[in-house]
Amino acid sequence: MRTAIFPGSFDPFTLGHLDVLDSALELFDKVTIAVGYNHLKPGFFAPESRVRLIKDSIRPHLKRECCIEVISYSGLTVELCRKMDTRFIIRGLRTTTDFEMESVIAQANKKLFPEIVSVFIPASQEYSFISSTVVRDVIINGGDASPFLAQGIEIANYLPKKID
Ligand code: ADP
Repeated sequence: MRTAIFPGSFDPFTLGHLDVLDSALELFDKVTIAVGYNHLKPGFFAPESRVRLIKDSIRPHLKRECCIEVISYSGLTVELCRKMDTRFIIRGLRTTTDFEMESVIAQANKKLFPEIVSVFIPASQEYSFISSTVVRDVIINGGDASPFLAQGIEIANYLPKKID
């Protein structure tokens, strides 16, 4: 069985990520979406909320849900690959800036784990402007983020709890 990991912050998971996942499922029998969590950079959504949002996003969209797994992890992505016994890392590319950053990361990963192959999937034109950063900005400023998110996602159900 051909397996791959699709790692990212997914803070939050957007229509752009979903589009990359769809293409990855054409290439691999099973794709593990791995939510990277760094204790020093906690991000906006809690890791467990990000995982829940991804599971809710893929449920109605993908007939092949059996072939998708969603996990969270911290530490090096190559270590996760080793642990999960896979060689393929999926990344999405929107711009030349993405390409430059991703090729550096891919080379570093290959140095750490020579069998690793990074698979770059270009963004579809209609989603190439979507980023989690923009989505967070919209949410923080009270806007409607639903055009950037999978159908049916009610962002209020995933937001960090306010501490008074
Ligand atoms: P990271 O913080 O690891 O870059 P992200 O959650 O921002 O994590 O993105 C995960 C992957 O998805 C990255 O490879 C990124 O380039 C890609 N990606 C993000 N948004 C889009 C999009 N709209 N279309 C295609 N790929 C995207």
